[in-house]
Amino acid sequence: MIKLTTVLLALSIGTAHAGPFDAVLPPAEFDRPYKGRLTIKIVPDDKDMPAGCEHMVGCATPNGTSCVIHLRNDAWIRSERGAPEIVLRHEIGHCNGWGKDHAGARRIPPLEIEKYY
Ligand SMILES: [Zn+2]
Repeated sequence: MIKLTTVLLALSIGTAHAGPFDAVLPPAEFDRPYKGRLTIKIVPDDKDMPAGCEHMVGCATPNGTSCVIHLRNDAWIRSERGAPEIVLRHEIGHCNGWGKDHAGARRIPPLEIEKYY
């Protein structure tokens, strides 16, 4: 939890990303801290996103007991009316095994997203 707090602090003073289309949280079973080795890379530009993740706000690459998350920066996320915390929880959900089909996603109404700014 300390690591997550540090990351969120870093995101708040640096950059992150999200968009209305990503304003969905994973189902409760996947919306929890990741227990493996988590690497979060804040990327300023599309060219720094992994292949297949261009134009996305975040991208999780689970690999057994580790997971790498690429996130666009805060400014980019906020420009898309997104909230960095929600994007991160979304991507960590994928690290925890939530499928790409987003089954069971919990959508957040736009007005409620502002609470996470
Ligand atoms: Zn997703």
